Amino acid sequence: MKANFSSSSFARAMAPPHTKVAIIGSGPAAHTAAIYLSRAELKPVLYEGMLAGGTAAGGQLTTTTDVENYPGFPQGIGGPELMDQMRAQSERFGTEIITETISRVDLKSRPFRLWREYEDAESDEPAHTADAVIIATGANARRLHLPGEAEYWQNGVSACAVCDGAVPIFRQKPLVVIGGGDSAAEEAMFLTKYGSHVTVLVRRDKLRASKAMAKRLLANPKVTVKFNTVAVEIQGENKPRGLMTHLKVKNVVTNAEEVMDANGLFYAVGHDPATALFKGQVDRDEDGYIVTKPGTSYTSLPGVFAAGDVQDKRYRQAITSAGSGCIAALEAEKYLAELEDDGELELEKDKQVKKGDLQNGTNVPEYRSNPLL
Ligand code: FAD
Ligand code: NDP
Repeated sequence: MKANFSSSSFARAMAPPHTKVAIIGSGPAAHTAAIYLSRAELKPVLYEGMLAGGTAAGGQLTTTTDVENYPGFPQGIGGPELMDQMRAQSERFGTEIITETISRVDLKSRPFRLWREYEDAESDEPAHTADAVIIATGANARRLHLPGEAEYWQNGVSACAVCDGAVPIFRQKPLVVIGGGDSAAEEAMFLTKYGSHVTVLVRRDKLRASKAMAKRLLANPKVTVKFNTVAVEIQGENKPRGLMTHLKVKNVVTNAEEVMDANGLFYAVGHDPATALFKGQVDRDEDGYIVTKPGTSYTSLPGVFAAGDVQDKRYRQAITSAGSGCIAALEAEKYLAELEDDGELELEKDKQVKKGDLQNGTNVPEYRSNPLL
C-alpha cells in the first residue's frame, strides 16, 4: 500500500522551516517592519492571517473607506488599497507572505516556535521556527452590536472619530459619542470641529476619563453629556447605502426612552488587543496590551518585539503603527546582528527584562552592532 504523504507534510515531519525573523500580523506595523527587514536582506516571513480575529489580512484599514491622514496621499486613499500597496512593497523586497493565522507560539524555547491554525495540536510540528519574532497583531475596536449597527456601519456609525470625523456627512450635523473614558472625551472634543453639536452617552453616573479631560469635556459649550444613558437602536434612511439619521436612547434610571437627531454615532468603548496568543509568555498590562519599553519595541522577552496597536492603547493610528513597525525592524535587526556576532550564549546571559524594568527604563538590553546607533 502506498503511503499517503504529501511532500509538504513529509518535509514538515523532517524539520520545520526556519527564518531569522517572523512577523505576525498584516497591518501597517507588520508591513513596515517587513519592508525594513527585507531591504536589510533578512528575508522575513510574515504571517498575515486568514481572517484572524474576524479581520481580513491587511488589518483594520481593510474595514474602512478613505484614509485622509496618511502622508503621501493628498487626495486620500482607500484603506484596502493602502494595505494592498504596503503588501506589494513588502513582497517587492523579498518578504515571504503566508496567508495563515498563527494560533500557538512557544517563545520560551530558542529558536522560537510558531504553529498555524488547525495544525497546532501538541503532537504537531511547528509551521516555522524563528530567531526573532515581531508581534504586530493589532487591536479591534469594541462594537456594541446595536440594532441598526450593521446597516449603518460606515454610513454614520464608526469606531474611530479621528479617522472618520471629518467626512462631509458629519459636517454641521448632530453627532453622538458613546463612552465615558479618555478616548470618548478626546473624540467628542475633536468632533466639535465638524458637527453642530456632540452628545456623549455615559452608561453610569460618572465619567471614567481623567479629571483634566473630564473638566474640559464638561466645559465645552458644543458638548452635552448625558449620564445614565445607553443607546438602544440606530435608525436611518430606508434605502441601500442609506445614512443614519436618528438614535433611540434610554435613561437606565428612569427607563425613559427618546429618539434623538443623530447623523453620526462614534463608539469609544475601548479596544481589545489581539494578544490572547501570547498570554503567559510575554508581559501584558491589565487590559491585555503587550508591555513595551516606552519609545522602543522591546518586550519582556529578548528577541520578541511588539509594534502597532497591540502595544499602543493611546494613539492607535496607521502612521504611529507604521512608525513603531520601523522601530521593531531596526531593533530586531540589531538583535540578529548580535546573535551572529557574539553567538546565542551572550544573549541568553542578557538578563530577561522584567515588566518593572520596561516601565522604568532600566535593565533593557542594549545591542551594540547596529550601525545606525
Ligand atoms: P491592525 O491594522 O490591527 O492589523 C493587524 C492584523 O494582523 C489583524 O487585523 C489580522 O489581519 C492580523 N493578525 C492578527 N492576529 C494574527 C495572527 N494570530 N496570525 C496572523 N495574523 C494575525 N488610522 C489612521 O491613521 N487613519 C484612518 O483614517 C483610520 N481609519 C480607521 C477606520 C476604522 C474603521 C478603524 C477600525 C481603524 C482606523 N484607523 C485609522 C486605525 C488604524 O487602522 C490602526 O491604528 C492600524 O491599522 C493599526 O495597525 P496595526 O499594524 O497595529 O494592526
Ligand atoms: P476605557 O476603558 O478607559 O473607557 C471605556 C469607556 O467606555 C468607559 O467609560 C466604559 O464605561 C465605556 N463602556 C464600555 N463598554 C460599554 C458599553 N457596552 N456601553 C456603554 N459604555 C461602555 O477606554 P479608552 O479607550 O477611553 O481609554 C483606554 C486607555 O487609553 C485609558 O488608559 C486612557 O486613559 C488612555 N487614553 C488616554 C488619552 C489621553 O490621555 N489623552 C486619550 C485616549 C485614551 P464604564 O466607565 O462604565 O466602564
